[in-house]
Amino acid sequence: MSVAENIRTVTAMLGSRCRLVAVTKTQSPETILEAYNAGHRAFGENKVQELMPKYETLPHDIEWHVVGHLQTNKVKYIAPFVSLIHSVDSLKLLREIDKQGQRHGRTISCLLQIHIAAEETKFGLSPDEAVQLLSGGAIAPLANVRITGLMGMATLTDDTNQIRAEFRSLRSLFDRLRTMTLPGNAVMQELSMGMSSDYPIAIEEGSTLVRVGSAIFGERHQEHG
Ligand SMILES: *Cc1c(COP(=O)(O)O)cnc(C)c1O
Repeated sequence: MSVAENIRTVTAMLGSRCRLVAVTKTQSPETILEAYNAGHRAFGENKVQELMPKYETLPHDIEWHVVGHLQTNKVKYIAPFVSLIHSVDSLKLLREIDKQGQRHGRTISCLLQIHIAAEETKFGLSPDEAVQLLSGGAIAPLANVRITGLMGMATLTDDTNQIRAEFRSLRSLFDRLRTMTLPGNAVMQELSMGMSSDYPIAIEEGSTLVRVGSAIFGERHQEHG
């Protein structure tokens, strides 16, 4: 199957509320152009050092998403153009995004990454930490940041019941936050969940953004880092 056909296959499953972010890590600009020439515009990368040369060579009407862990010292590179940062998990990072957004006269959209998987990881906020962050006074002054929703990754497992339960836990946090009074620059609209192995379940559980790589582009040849 070609990249264009795979994009059509995934897109056909999305329904009206969900959009596809095609994750292009380890893929060449030529491969990305196949998707671009098929009309796709939303692409995601997980490493800034890999994103920058692609941003520079590829057409500038591409909507770039950062989906992987973002280091504070890398924000300055992506601030001029990034469309959505899916992986914000600290106030320190939000403050840097705000500072760089201000420098470039932009308001940068961000999702809070929530740790929902059983696997140990140092990335992602717990649901309680997210509630605390959004209910304290720290977000409102960040005029160049807009928090538009949540992102999460389910456990890598064949147990679809577990995957579904994890997506449901993210959805229920999302619904809970929607009932709360949030700072003016935070609005719960986007629920980024679902990758190649589990996006059909994520769509059923209310995803608005699926981040799909290998199901479109094939297996990755080399992982950087
Ligand atoms: C790589 C990656 C994806 C896409 O993974 P696939 O299994 O190739 O679809 C989605 N989200 C994040 C955060 C990633 O790093």
